[in-house]
Amino acid sequence: MTEPHAVEQPTLEATSPYELRVDLGRNVSETDVRGALATGDMGFLHSFTTGSTVDGPGVRVVAWTAGCMWRCLYCHNPDTWTMTNGLPVTVAKATEELRKYRHGLKVMNGGFTLSGGEPLMQHRFAVKLFAAARGMGIHTTLDTNGYYGERLTDDELGLIDLVMLDIKTWNPERHKKLTGMDVGPTLEFARRLGARDRPMWLRYVLVPGLTDDADDIAATARFVAGLGNVERVDVLPFHQMGRYKWHRLQLNYTLEETQPPSADLVERTLAIFRNEGLNAV
Ligand code: SF4
Repeated sequence: MTEPHAVEQPTLEATSPYELRVDLGRNVSETDVRGALATGDMGFLHSFTTGSTVDGPGVRVVAWTAGCMWRCLYCHNPDTWTMTNGLPVTVAKATEELRKYRHGLKVMNGGFTLSGGEPLMQHRFAVKLFAAARGMGIHTTLDTNGYYGERLTDDELGLIDLVMLDIKTWNPERHKKLTGMDVGPTLEFARRLGARDRPMWLRYVLVPGLTDDADDIAATARFVAGLGNVERVDVLPFHQMGRYKWHRLQLNYTLEETQPPSADLVERTLAIFRNEGLNAV
């Protein structure tokens, strides 16, 4: 493959995923991108961050992948939509990075989380990274919208200790308007995880006016509770930390006036999930 210009390479590590990163893989040819997707020997990463306590159990090292087919109106990281905005990184290099933290992660009951973007856009790379992490005895977590869950075999699912599944909204029409995509494959993946008793957390981003309909939340809660494998529900209040990225990327941001949910709305949402016996936090 063609190496990107060395002078333009930032470090893989970022202080947070809210760093705007674009065009880091722009010198990679279409052929090399296709080759990387087919083999999984190389992936495109927005960044690595360390010390997260909100991306899975314990303290996490998080690799943020680039590439997502969805277009969520509230996306906090629209720079991760385009795969070649990410830095091309070999599995060996990503593994080496992870190796630095393996002892600390075990001591802190943490692990490695692959998030994005949508990690399963690069599912072969994801599988190789999970296998490498497992080989070092590191707990593995996948944060996904689930749309491409069918790309993983059952054996590959076995490499993932925890799936954090984002269900954006239960309502099919609202889901389409919110993300541009159908909710069906996500729910199908959730059912499969439930049937195989794979540990799962639900992530639910609470956005006033978009995902705060009590009936939709109740339907989501009933569905999730019925799966039998959901250990925890994270209700994530919408915030505006990603707004500047929409501006800088000259994207049409429709949530300029949207406020974070009130404490009362968050409590009412948590109560709906808890009413179904779920551990909502
Ligand atoms: S699935 Fe995630 S990364 Fe993709 S558009 Fe939605 S919020 Fe952004």
